[in-house]
Amino acid sequence: MKDPAAPSDPTVVSLVHLGCARNLIDSELILARMAEEGLLVSGDPADADAVVVNTCSFIGPARTESEETIRRYEEEKRRGALRHLVVAGCLVQRYKHRLERRFPLVDVFAEISDYRELARTLRDLTRGRRVRSYLASPGLREPERDAARMLATPGSYAYLRISHGCDHTCGFCAIPAIRGPHRSKRPEAVLEEARELIGAGVKELVLVAEDSTAWGRDLGSELPDLVEALAELEGDHQVRVMYAYPNNFPWRLAELLRDHPRVARYLDIPVQHAATPVLRAMRRAGSGDQVRRTLDRLRTEVPDLEIRTTLLVGYPGETAADAAELAPFVREYGLGRLGAFTFSREEDTPAWDLPDPVPEDVAVERYLEVVAARDEVLAAGQRALVGSEVEVLVDERAQHGGEPVAVGRTERDAPEVDPLAVLPGVDAPVGARVRARVVDVDDEMHLVCEPVAEPAAAPAAGEGAR
Ligand code: SF4
Repeated sequence: MKDPAAPSDPTVVSLVHLGCARNLIDSELILARMAEEGLLVSGDPADADAVVVNTCSFIGPARTESEETIRRYEEEKRRGALRHLVVAGCLVQRYKHRLERRFPLVDVFAEISDYRELARTLRDLTRGRRVRSYLASPGLREPERDAARMLATPGSYAYLRISHGCDHTCGFCAIPAIRGPHRSKRPEAVLEEARELIGAGVKELVLVAEDSTAWGRDLGSELPDLVEALAELEGDHQVRVMYAYPNNFPWRLAELLRDHPRVARYLDIPVQHAATPVLRAMRRAGSGDQVRRTLDRLRTEVPDLEIRTTLLVGYPGETAADAAELAPFVREYGLGRLGAFTFSREEDTPAWDLPDPVPEDVAVERYLEVVAARDEVLAAGQRALVGSEVEVLVDERAQHGGEPVAVGRTERDAPEVDPLAVLPGVDAPVGARVRARVVDVDDEMHLVCEPVAEPAAAPAAGEGAR
């Protein structure tokens, strides 16, 4: 930690980000607003006079991580290594003033907002002025275009939020209570943000929302219209869709996934479970059969589609027979890209009062079965790629043992959640696309590749990404 006695002007601030890609956009907004207020932003909290923790409170483990992080920086403050501590984001939005007593060394708590007020408050705080210790949200965030962001992603890709909130009421999820009902951002707003990102050199726009397939329903439009418009923007970018809801799927999207060279042949579609009684208990729209029909149709209409999903194991009332559907489901649909979670009982969610909890050890056992099936499918799928040619988008230019290494992803993989593609000995800039042959798969299921031609800079505009 920085020596607080050392003179420091301007004040150095750092942001500790927790949670999902959607929250990362909020972190990027906070970083940009802090820079606008003249604060010097550092990527290393150890350099900082002030730390902002942007929290997540989706489920128990995420909340625990947020709370532990706050305690860690409270400890830094206690021993004089940090001057100011600010806590923002979902945890504050959810628990509001209840956090103040639990974390007495936090200077300011800030609910979700456009974060201008947070940045001004932090600036005033660092100048020794009196500030309000609790910044309430002025209301649900307007679905306008986001203000300028300071990208925390490598520059090869950026997240693009297309809507706020969610109209579903899944029993396990606190998000509607935290982020409100669904509001689509206007297409012009999304396109303007996208143009700026492409202009800044971003090669992959990763579309995120609480429920991306709901985009446009409140505007008389639908997601494929937006995806197509984004894909058609001038540039050499690609568009990737995350967080699709499996019901009322806008099927023209399948055509774009299959045919449009600038739409990644990849879909993140969290289904949560495959057994009808559990989906009903979860208040999900649709049954196990409907989930399977949606995946079957996707597989038929979009050959080679890489599907990512999420499964939640151990929901109250889940029987051994319900749980036994999951591993075969993962194998049948080739779901090697899968986020699995055990149920976490959350306040302010419909599942809070449900009877018939699944004992933790049973839930963990069922979870491990799902993860084993996933790992098996992923390993087989990755090994089947050995010998094939792929295109790697470089996300990181690294060094290993004095040798350059380009680290990136193929179109089959989303950033941060899916396996990587590694090019040992290759020195290529972030954002380059490298034609490569898969020569091996490492222990973590990352593809090891070698270039089939000299690494080149990103292709000229108009060249397909597939
Ligand atoms: S679809 Fe369900 S799980 Fe996803 S954000 Fe909405 S309520 Fe939560």
